[in-house]
Amino acid sequence: MSELKIMSPLSGQVWPLERIPDPVFAQKMVGDGLSIDPTDGVLIAACDGEVAALHAAGHAVTLRTPEGVELLMHVGIDTVSMKGQGFKPLVKLGDQVKAGTPLIEFDLDFLATRAKSLLTQIIVVNGERVKWLERASGYVAVGKDTLFTVALVEEAAAAATNAALTVTSEVIVIPNPTGLHARPSAVLASLAKTFQCTLKLELGGQQANLRSVTAIMALDVAQGAKVRVVASGLDAKAAVEKLSAVLAAGSGDEGCEPAPAATSTTVAKVAAPPARQRSTDPNVLMGVSASPGLAVGQVFQLRREEIRVTETGAGANAERTRLTDALGTAHGQLSALRAQLHAKREAAKAAIFAAHEELLTDPDLLDIAESAIAKGKSAAFAWKSAITTHAERLAGMRNPLLAQRANDLRDVGLRVLAILTGTTLAKAEYPPNSVLIAEDLTPSDTAALDRTRVMGFCTARGGSTSHVAIIARSLGLPALAGIEPGALEVADGTLVILDGNKGTLRLNASAEEVARIRKAQERAEQRRKDNLAHAREPAITLDGTRLEVVANIGGLKDATKIAGLGGEGVGLLRSEFLFMERSDAPTEEEQFETYKSIAQTVGQGHPLIIRTLDVGGDKPLAYLPIPKEDNPFLGERGVRVGLDRPDLMRTQLRAILRAGPFGDIRIMFPMISRLSELRDVKAMLAEEAAKLGVPLLPTGIMVEVPAAAVMAAQFAREADFFSVGTNDLTQYTLAMDRGHPKLAPQVDGLNPAVLRLIAHTVKGAEPFKRMVGVCGGIASDPVAVPILLGIGVTELSVSLPAIPAVKAQIRTLRMDACRALAERALAAESAEAVRALVPDPDAEPSTLQVKA
Ligand code: PEP
Ligand code: MG
Repeated sequence: MSELKIMSPLSGQVWPLERIPDPVFAQKMVGDGLSIDPTDGVLIAACDGEVAALHAAGHAVTLRTPEGVELLMHVGIDTVSMKGQGFKPLVKLGDQVKAGTPLIEFDLDFLATRAKSLLTQIIVVNGERVKWLERASGYVAVGKDTLFTVALVEEAAAAATNAALTVTSEVIVIPNPTGLHARPSAVLASLAKTFQCTLKLELGGQQANLRSVTAIMALDVAQGAKVRVVASGLDAKAAVEKLSAVLAAGSGDEGCEPAPAATSTTVAKVAAPPARQRSTDPNVLMGVSASPGLAVGQVFQLRREEIRVTETGAGANAERTRLTDALGTAHGQLSALRAQLHAKREAAKAAIFAAHEELLTDPDLLDIAESAIAKGKSAAFAWKSAITTHAERLAGMRNPLLAQRANDLRDVGLRVLAILTGTTLAKAEYPPNSVLIAEDLTPSDTAALDRTRVMGFCTARGGSTSHVAIIARSLGLPALAGIEPGALEVADGTLVILDGNKGTLRLNASAEEVARIRKAQERAEQRRKDNLAHAREPAITLDGTRLEVVANIGGLKDATKIAGLGGEGVGLLRSEFLFMERSDAPTEEEQFETYKSIAQTVGQGHPLIIRTLDVGGDKPLAYLPIPKEDNPFLGERGVRVGLDRPDLMRTQLRAILRAGPFGDIRIMFPMISRLSELRDVKAMLAEEAAKLGVPLLPTGIMVEVPAAAVMAAQFAREADFFSVGTNDLTQYTLAMDRGHPKLAPQVDGLNPAVLRLIAHTVKGAEPFKRMVGVCGGIASDPVAVPILLGIGVTELSVSLPAIPAVKAQIRTLRMDACRALAERALAAESAEAVRALVPDPDAEPSTLQVKA
């Protein structure tokens, strides 16, 4: 029997795997070995071998020894989320190394403050080669002590064991009406990642890596197709059972009837793409409806420039680092975008960009890019070829749903390519009243469209199920997809009518038609202008009650717009926006300067309510890793993060306190659920104020957890004001994720359960004369405004564009009528019943597009 000695690759205290605070390692799902709490920052090779894998985030490396043993060395826990920051790989894939060769350099001090743990796992991955391990304990010295000795099972015997561990499922008939498109593929890939064995999906002799969304989609698996799951490794049986069951049930797709057992006569069916329609009227171009509505405007042809890349790289290591950095930056951008969309309650759009984030870690894409880099190509060239290869494969598929996902891949590809090449993607400057026509738009293009200038758009590619169409619908922007190619030839400036319901683009519309549409648009525009003209006047009800209408803002740029729109201050500064899209937290000085500038812009006498950092849950920060949680919305979020990281909280409080003299600044804490939390943060505030020798500032809380609303009477003794965050209060009251694409329509802040909690808050605040405002989305809902007034809310904090309309609406209301309405709303049975009490004052008689 042969033995293999594994030398200690780091100095430090040895830990048994069972004590590692990560179930995947602790339960030896990866394999057996030991962990070291390192005292030095260079990981060396623990034995001779070849670099068989080097993780893109630079935090883990696998060596394959001449005996065929695979040894994983994984620095830290959850350090993949550092996206390469703090790690410097010193070797590359395929290098032959001797025991003692430095492999990865890491910044101990940097990681100590940011990573969940620095415990480094040294693990034999191919468990079938291990007869037993003899382990060291106590302190081990790098390159000197033996960490463990592996008694080896001979390779032939192990191969037999591994073969015995290969499990193939029964034939599974795919029930999904639209085959395995992006969503079910993502469900399968993320499930596959929870197993250790190799996992393939087999269709007609072809196999795809089940951990790769793009590889699964590339198999083009249609409804009725017969597939098998093939797994090799220790947990193969469990993996095959689980994945087969999920595949047979539709991989998370709705409405999938389990398919009948496979028979040799079952034939794969593919929904043929709808034949492109052609109009016989020379003035009408046909497409498919991507988003309903009617728009009149002038054609603006949008053409995309190609990003050029250099083929040859500056060495594999340098290019690998560049790609890793660019992927990290793209991750940061996408998660920030997702957080903003969630904050705006745009769950469907947020889900699209979450899928884009998943593509950034797709093993197939990364493998293609890695192999090109290893051959000396530049990171940009390697990435571009990986994206092009996959996108072309997808675009050529018969299944239209899959073909449309090629566009998502191109979008993600372009984002990373722009970062790699330092290209700023030129923002098209389109004239007012534009109807855009393009070969294709990406989801990112669409989400960034200037709604004040774009009336609608048509694309030659895409379809009604594309992500671009979903975004267009969420923007209320009429759109056509798959329009006849002739549309790309229509001259800029041509007057057109886009009918998103019928799927037509009319080129030479009759004067009456245009006039009718224009008239309705003008009426809406006039109302917007009137509201704006009176925006600076106070919002006083017909019977003389004055309401405060303030703004929800994200930073200084927003602050400059408040006065012009009639905002009377800031009811919610979402300070987390200052912390996003950066690689480290802003310093006290930076924060002070920002708060001071905002306070000066808002002006003395106008409140500026600064909410302290509200991250966690759906708002991640790359440099503040929060360990993976099963229920992030119920985990470390809002004030809980600040209490766990008092350094961050105190820095922010000092910056706000120092900005105090420059305006009417008040501090608000998010996600408060217990009195002790408020007391703890107020104690921190008092200590920092004393240290700085500055006066305290008024301190309030967000009421966004039912516990805070229920306990409002107790909170009112210690909080100076309340602001109801109905976005979160609704999700926590109804136990429905505010970002859940299916539940979103039911997550309605007008649910009487939520209204009752607001009323309870008002009642609790009353004896202490504490202000109760609302800063969640319903504060600008025209149906909610009179009800909130009737309940006794005295401040509405709304998005900037909504300010003039909310003020105008308040001027049409009477408090006694609002109170009567609120009483009926509180007694209603459902959100629908509440909505039925108030005819929507903004409802338009038609579906005409109105400038936002
Ligand atoms: C809310 O929860 O209603 C709120 C205003 O906070 P955010 O949307 O930023 O979580
Ligand atoms: Mg909230």
